Amino acid sequence: MKIKFLGATGTVTGSKYLIATNKTKILIDCGLFQGYKNLRERNWQEFPFSIESIDAVVLTHAHLDHSGMVPLLYKFGYRGPIYCSEATFALCELLLPDSAHIQEEEAKFRNKHKFTKHNPAQPLYNLVTALNSLKLFKIIDFEQEVAINDIKFKLRSVGHILGAASVQIMDNEKSIIVSGDVGRPNDSVMPAPLPLDNCDCLLIESTYGNRLHEHDDSNEELAAIVNETAKRGGSILIPSFAIGRAQTIMFLLSELIKSKRITKLPIFLDSPMAIDASDIYCHFNKQHRLTADQCREMGAKIEYTRSVAASKELANLEYPHIIISASGMATGGRVLHHLRSFLPDHLSTVIMVGYQAGGTRGRKLLNGDKKIKIFGQDVDVKANIKEIDTLSAHADYQELIDWLKLSKSLSPKQVFIVHGEPDAADEFRLHLKDQLGWTATVPEYMSEYEV
Ligand SMILES: [Zn+2]
Repeated sequence: MKIKFLGATGTVTGSKYLIATNKTKILIDCGLFQGYKNLRERNWQEFPFSIESIDAVVLTHAHLDHSGMVPLLYKFGYRGPIYCSEATFALCELLLPDSAHIQEEEAKFRNKHKFTKHNPAQPLYNLVTALNSLKLFKIIDFEQEVAINDIKFKLRSVGHILGAASVQIMDNEKSIIVSGDVGRPNDSVMPAPLPLDNCDCLLIESTYGNRLHEHDDSNEELAAIVNETAKRGGSILIPSFAIGRAQTIMFLLSELIKSKRITKLPIFLDSPMAIDASDIYCHFNKQHRLTADQCREMGAKIEYTRSVAASKELANLEYPHIIISASGMATGGRVLHHLRSFLPDHLSTVIMVGYQAGGTRGRKLLNGDKKIKIFGQDVDVKANIKEIDTLSAHADYQELIDWLKLSKSLSPKQVFIVHGEPDAADEFRLHLKDQLGWTATVPEYMSEYEV
């Protein structure tokens, strides 16, 4: 088999790996590039393969940096199957139309305010294309073997978010495992990632390849920040991935209220997609750690603002409150409107709870930038910017290595480190050498290897 790296090289975005035998080509993940402009520009380039030659697409999970270019594949003529788990499909039904909607709105906004180098500004794909692409999806169970010509593959649960999986791809001779995004052993919502089978070639993610999550209690940290901010009369904004992190934060806040560890502030979930995703989480109740009661309580303690009017109303609140809103790296979505009013307010706090890719507003805030551009205008940053990285949905480097060690028979001859920024990927290479004796490669964009 051959493998070609078409994304998630030197970045955590744009996941795309083309795996080919003489007879068959399958694409693992089809994610959007996000963050730095030179990466985002790749979304607009032609696919670096002929679309007709692809026999199947397999998605590890629903996050847009793994699924967000599926509608574009459709737009350029792909009509083959797209395999994923049932929950991944349910979440893609939310995410892909929403992604189209956000792009259409942004193009409209840019055209209206003449804030565009392109005339007129266009979305990458529109709602109709996103909806049509969903018709290609085929749901498979975890561990179900699917055959495409001379290739077989199967998904295995890997924590991270609902529906997320690693993929094992086999031909008659060799096998490749793509780890996907790997969750954490003690996540409060998702179960621990399952150990892998042996394989000849492993692609392992490295988002936190150079970091250890602090082992402080994230509940304590969150409670302290909420209480401090409320005491000085400020409010709290939590930009969050709508899927996965939003549900974890809702769960933690509802537990903190129940145990009276935080002041009882009004909490708003201002993201229609996060609201729908929370319902989907509660529906797939065998695939996470939350009980039906906990799901219900979570909904009871948090007010959902679905309409634009209700969302705008939040800006007029004059008492301390908490808003959870998407997107998680502040690259788009309703959170931008909230950031515009929160950032200049020195009493308030913005808590970053997920990985912030280089070049995103979220990363700039963590870097301490004093001005952030939102809708083409500079916004002063006077609010307190906090980070709780223990709320991450990604394993740190030690958790990744401990997970790999669970697979007693695992001894891949080739290891590729993907889905990490350059420093994280390279440091993870050294940890793999030190702790497992593995020699790993950090592949370049568009590089190709024989397995
Ligand atoms: Zn992910």
